[in-house]
Amino acid sequence: MLRMSADRSELLQALAAVVGTAGILRGDVLAGRSAGIWSGEALRALALVRPRTTDEVARVMQLCHAAGQVVVPAGGMTGLAGGHSSTAADIVLSTERMNRIEAMDARARTMVVEAGVILQSVHERAAQDGLMFALDLGARASCTIGGNIATNAGGVRVLRFGMMREQVLGLEVVLADGSVLSSMFDMLKNNTGYDLRQMFIGSEGTLGIVTRAVLRLHEAPLATETALLAVPTWDQVMELLRYFDAALPGALAAFEVLWRDHYELNTGSCSEIDAPLETETPFYILMDVFISDIDQGRAQLEALLTTCLEQGEIVDGALASSETERARFWQIRENFEPEQKKFDKIYGYDISLPLEAMADYVESVRQQLTQRFVDAELFAYGHIGDGNLHFSIYPGQARDRAAVDEMVYFPLQALHGSVSAEHGIGLEKKAYLKYTRSESEIELMRKTKRMMDPTNILNPGKLFDL
Ligand SMILES: Cc1cc2nc3c(=O)[nH]c(=O)nc-3n(C[C@H](O)[C@H](O)[C@H](O)COP(=O)(O)OP(=O)(O)OC[C@H]3O[C@@H](n4cnc5c(N)ncnc54)[C@H](O)[C@@H]3O)c2cc1C
Repeated sequence: MLRMSADRSELLQALAAVVGTAGILRGDVLAGRSAGIWSGEALRALALVRPRTTDEVARVMQLCHAAGQVVVPAGGMTGLAGGHSSTAADIVLSTERMNRIEAMDARARTMVVEAGVILQSVHERAAQDGLMFALDLGARASCTIGGNIATNAGGVRVLRFGMMREQVLGLEVVLADGSVLSSMFDMLKNNTGYDLRQMFIGSEGTLGIVTRAVLRLHEAPLATETALLAVPTWDQVMELLRYFDAALPGALAAFEVLWRDHYELNTGSCSEIDAPLETETPFYILMDVFISDIDQGRAQLEALLTTCLEQGEIVDGALASSETERARFWQIRENFEPEQKKFDKIYGYDISLPLEAMADYVESVRQQLTQRFVDAELFAYGHIGDGNLHFSIYPGQARDRAAVDEMVYFPLQALHGSVSAEHGIGLEKKAYLKYTRSESEIELMRKTKRMMDPTNILNPGKLFDL
């Protein structure tokens, strides 16, 4: 047992001996660090500890376990549910120095990476061998593989490839007591009892620290076509999802929907992007299609879009004619600058529910919101191909987060929806976990946490209270 003085100096010295003086940031050096570019807040921590290897992570955890010291794992700090948030008494364990791509096997279509590797680096490395890593999301340039695993991240390709848990073949994790659990397999099939790997994926740093992973890669498409379509009704949005998926089997790679409010905000006076479509409609579909024959693929898509126009399923549409134009279309979906310019406060939401109920649900939340807070505004968009809806809500001057949360989350119970589709529960949605998970499910999660982290030092208070 490590003897601790009240100011924890003995522990900090022992940690410095493990990670080196450059591996532990405290005091003034720490003062300059933020808790992530998206939070805009300063990082609060007793120390930021930056191990370089699994062995160092294990030794850090052994010391913290012996000292009863809380540890908050952190990757790129782009999480949107408060999962990486910390207090001034916590050790924040950052994977920023564990950023090596250890191996790439183009024939096996696998990549072995350390947890701190940035998602975009994985994309770039895979592309060098004509391959792709399927997970893709707006924070790609900052988020890490470890964070993606811990949150079971989703993003824009889930419709075609599934979430992060589908992309992980092998995993190495350090447990709360510092023991290392290695399951670094590189095969797809492995039916040898409980899939322990999956237990850590989506556990938001509460059960173990991800240190390395074997990632599954796919053949990269020859090219990607991107279309933006103006659609008059929700029924047509649902029909078109089915229509394109059937007409382009296995090729529909993203199907995002922007409600008119989001489209207009992101192409309006606060945005640098001009509206590619002049026609005003309630819904805009942004769609990626993988093609394996440049001429034929584009011609087939053009023919499908023409048919949709003739039949009135869409009232306007554009097919991106260059990579720059593709990026511009996607900017309309992924750009958050306009809302940040226009509003001093935005509450973000990430939920899922059956498509059949989605349009009515959006209007009902909008109505409740603006009835109660007249100056409030709601912007809706999301990965609708996966039933995943996002809201950016300007709460008005009242700033009543609890009331707005309740308006968004409460109806999901009756609709069999989820209070978190992809961002996780963290701190922000803890109070609403019960709207999606039963008491017996939450109790089993608690029992698992107690068994794996009996002293509750690993990201305590996230997901649920013990
Ligand atoms: C602009 C923008 C767009 C986004 N789009 C999407 C999207 O489309 N889909 C989506 O799913 N998410 C999205 N996100 C949310 C975020 O990017 C993801 O949750 C991402 O997976 C977090 O990775 P990170 O490295 O930043 O993790 P962090 O934010 O650092 O941490 C997130 C959680 O994981 C834990 N954690 C981090 N690293 C480890 C580790 N090595 N071991 C154990 N636990 C760890 C933390 O304790 C915390 O609970 C978006 C965020 C932004 C800012």
